[in-house]
Amino acid sequence: MMPDYALWDSLQSPVWIFDIDCKRISWANKAALMFWNAETLDEISQRDFSKDMSEAVNVTLSQYQKRFDAGENIKTWWNLTPGNITRKVLCHFTGYLTPEGRTAMLVEVIADEPCLRRDIALADFTNLALLFDSDGKLVSVNHAFEEYFGNELRDLAAFATDTHLARRWLRSARSNGFFQAGARCWTGQNFQWFDVEGVWLGDRQQLLLHLSDLSDLGEGRDEMQLVRHHAEMDYLTGLVNRRGFGKVVHGENDKNRSYSLLFLDIDGFKLINDTHGHSVGDRLLTDIAERLKLTLDNRGLLARFGGDEFVIKIDRSQVGIPGDLARELIAELNRPFEIGDIGEIIMGCSIGIARYPEDADNLDTLITYADMALHRAKYLGRNRSLYFTPEMACALHRKARLRHRLSIALEKCEFSVHYQPITRSDDGMLKGFEALVRWNDEELGHVSPAEFIPLAEETGQIVQLGRWIMQQALKQLRTWRSKFGIDLMVSVNLSRAQLQPGLAPYVSELMKQYDIKPSQVALELTESTMLLDYDEARHCIEALGQIGVELYLDDFGTGYSSLSQLHDLPITTVKLDKSFVQGEHKGSLAVIEATRAICEKLGLRLIAEGIETQNQLEYLKHCGYDYCQGFYIGRPMAPEQLEELHANLFEQSVEN
Ligand code: C2E
Ligand code: CA
Ligand code: CA
Repeated sequence: MMPDYALWDSLQSPVWIFDIDCKRISWANKAALMFWNAETLDEISQRDFSKDMSEAVNVTLSQYQKRFDAGENIKTWWNLTPGNITRKVLCHFTGYLTPEGRTAMLVEVIADEPCLRRDIALADFTNLALLFDSDGKLVSVNHAFEEYFGNELRDLAAFATDTHLARRWLRSARSNGFFQAGARCWTGQNFQWFDVEGVWLGDRQQLLLHLSDLSDLGEGRDEMQLVRHHAEMDYLTGLVNRRGFGKVVHGENDKNRSYSLLFLDIDGFKLINDTHGHSVGDRLLTDIAERLKLTLDNRGLLARFGGDEFVIKIDRSQVGIPGDLARELIAELNRPFEIGDIGEIIMGCSIGIARYPEDADNLDTLITYADMALHRAKYLGRNRSLYFTPEMACALHRKARLRHRLSIALEKCEFSVHYQPITRSDDGMLKGFEALVRWNDEELGHVSPAEFIPLAEETGQIVQLGRWIMQQALKQLRTWRSKFGIDLMVSVNLSRAQLQPGLAPYVSELMKQYDIKPSQVALELTESTMLLDYDEARHCIEALGQIGVELYLDDFGTGYSSLSQLHDLPITTVKLDKSFVQGEHKGSLAVIEATRAICEKLGLRLIAEGIETQNQLEYLKHCGYDYCQGFYIGRPMAPEQLEELHANLFEQSVEN
């Protein structure tokens, strides 16, 4: 007979009965069904919890059963995982006698820590992670820790087994952002040696600990030494890892000896992992490490920093010119690797070099600099080496600063839009304007869009910014209509990241809002943006074509595509890149004429941009270019300035 649970059903907090022997929920109130993401009692009682249950949890539950039998109740924090989301909840467990006379467990959730911190959820599950608040109280633990050690731990002082030590950890994490220590810790169940890495999460005032478990290293050796050994070696290649490398370099006492750091990264290694799987990747990495070791032939210290990154320290008294060694290493790695069933694999690698003491006087900075040089080497075409230069650091600092200022500017909306006239070639009548964004930063002054747009593209901020620019531009058209009674057109530049399903509806919406005709709006895309093989962007371009706005192909001639490759896209107009108009290339004139001929054949209109002189204007008119744009006709300007300086243009405009 089913007992009457009606009383519990009306409780707000989740309550359920867990059958410890069968590992199933035998009854749950409404709140518990919601908690477990189940529709019905039937559904939840079908779930077999034994599948995901670790031995640690299993054993804990049978211990609970004994405690219930002894008349005890238990109140504790548990991590439960309803619907793949881990929730940390404070539970009250009571023994419950089933109709068959077995001891089950009545669970009541008293409190719910709503979000288990992201950092923990994302932590490597083979590692152990603990999160504490600024007073050292435990906020949560990851699955792995819970599985090994249960939920008994309450605070940092208990974990560190020493209040002073706990306070020191908190203090150093808070002031340095980071600390690291080897320590014997209390897990809540036992004492255990860990390598402890603490990270201070400033925004939420919490301390995240990552632990490497070092207890299984055998007996009879100095525990501390084992701790070090384990934490400083790379298990795959047997080389020292980043930490071990730092230790060795710091341990050397001759500060006067000059040395170089080579930061080496395998080109396209990810591809190997993706196509052949990780076991082949690992195999290749061991072979690479072996070959590097052989080539180095004891001339330096080789470390694996993780993934496909290796770092080498060489004494310059031993190696002479580091660039020569780099070339030697690259040549050696370029010889094929023989990998089991797969056969020969040919790898390239890039190397960045930084020198002590010329470039920096400490190891961390040198590593960063060598890494910068490495990235530069990759950028310049891979399979090569490059020395660090101070300009690389400057460029990076500038970028970081720009990033920071850009997010502030976005928040405060510190941008403006300038407009550059586009006129009809034959009679000089105004067709409309290209909208060009401007940013004048309090600290950095005027920053060119050529510099900040790529950054905004990297961070995705371009989407928000792009919408704002579009809105300003369409609003401006309405203002001009009411001022001058004319329907001008505006062309707005689009970045690749903006090609999302929401774009066409957004443009439609704006056109409605400001009462703008589709023929008044053009969107400028470069060929690299248009030549996309992924569907979403292509659909977006087609949707834009369908709402009737024009598409301009910007900077034509700078890429590799031919117009015929773009023929199935709804382009109406081509803008020849200004470098041809200004005759920067050898065959500029030929390109100007050939482009005209192709466009004529494909029925595309042509705009020449970057016209700076009367001669250029005459020539392009002569070549049959439909529209013109450039400093000679008018610079990009704020609307009020345009109206003042180019009042004549507003008097004669093309019918759009
Ligand atoms: P773009 O689309 O090719 O824009 C034309 C650029 O050429 C503008 O530079 C313009 O000021 C400049 N220009 C116009 N006429 C002449 C001329 O006669 N001589 C010379 N030397 N230059 C001329 P700007 O405003 O610095 O913009 C640079 C690039 O930044 C743009 O190249 C475009 O790729 C990007 N950009 C600018 N505004 C936006 C925007 O609102 N959204 C997006 N996604 N990109 C933008
Ligand atoms: Ca443009
Ligand atoms: Ca352009």
